[in-house]
Amino acid sequence: MKDIRVAIVGFGKIARDQHVPAIKAVPGITLAAVASRNASLPGVPHFTTLEALLNDGPEIDAVALCTPPQVRHGQAVTALAARKHVMLEKPPGATVSEIAPLLATARENGRTLFATWHSRFAPAVEPLRRLLENRQISAVTITWKEDVRVWHPGQAWIFEAGGLGVFDPGINALSILTRVLPEPVFVTKAALDFPSNRAAPIAAELDMTDVSGLPIHASFDFRQTGPQSWDIHFETDKGPITLSRGGARLSEGQEVLVEEKEAEYPGLYQRFVELASEGICEVDLAPQQLVADAFTLGLRRAVEPFED
Ligand code: NAP
Repeated sequence: MKDIRVAIVGFGKIARDQHVPAIKAVPGITLAAVASRNASLPGVPHFTTLEALLNDGPEIDAVALCTPPQVRHGQAVTALAARKHVMLEKPPGATVSEIAPLLATARENGRTLFATWHSRFAPAVEPLRRLLENRQISAVTITWKEDVRVWHPGQAWIFEAGGLGVFDPGINALSILTRVLPEPVFVTKAALDFPSNRAAPIAAELDMTDVSGLPIHASFDFRQTGPQSWDIHFETDKGPITLSRGGARLSEGQEVLVEEKEAEYPGLYQRFVELASEGICEVDLAPQQLVADAFTLGLRRAVEPFED
């Protein structure tokens, strides 16, 4: 079978750090072009917009949309109208409801819409899911705290409306949570801290539960200096289980069960190749629904202004 020719749209941090090496590493897919207003990659055809790429560029089969969520919907509409497969970076959009029409168009055209959750491809996540199948879980605590100045330098969009603020990384934890728990989860209480000069929260506390009343608490904070935390802790009938390093490490009590290098994007692209070769869609909006519900239900607190 021929390689899928993919174009990256939006050539920022994640495109450079993860998408380019993953496309190189995964059989069955080739980087055919880049569309980005300001950035390009030597040796790869470059266009400033997706429209210019579709009109004047080389033949492509698919696009990987690596732009901020606020502009991705329009690009996905354009790509699907041109009958291309579409990979969406997380979160799938700026709103939950904008995804349904994309899914309908993709299905009508027999094209793939893949709403990615890269953290679900972290090496310890599937082992964790299997481990939890044999445990009674009594409490879950998420601690997802990172320094926005280190991890998102100059990314103004993240604090603009639709950028999700601290939920931009926090949604990764929610994507793992909703993958590994046996029952759907919902938000019962939330508090969101908005810097007085920004339109998205810099920190958030969420209480969630499921049909059995399982207590789940999440603390998200973008102001973390020193050690960074990307941990999910489970109290179970057979002792504590901790997923840490964003999903690269799994321990049960004192025993380390998984400790691997972070490697999520090759798995993501392998999945995209599988889906696109069949024209199948994969879209799970549960993590983004939780974030939307936190915005709906959450108490809003004004905190000190944030300056880059
Ligand atoms: P970024 O470094 O700011 O890159 C985004 C790129 O999109 C920019 O380089 C820009 O390229 C383009 N862009 C920005 N605003 C645009 C607009 N209004 N119209 C068209 N293009 C625009 O952000 P990023 O960190 O790569 O994040 C992009 C997405 O990937 C986000 O949804 C994020 O959640 C997700 N993600 C990020 C990470 C991470 O660690 N950074 C990890 C996983 C997923 P041009 O200016 O050249 O057009």
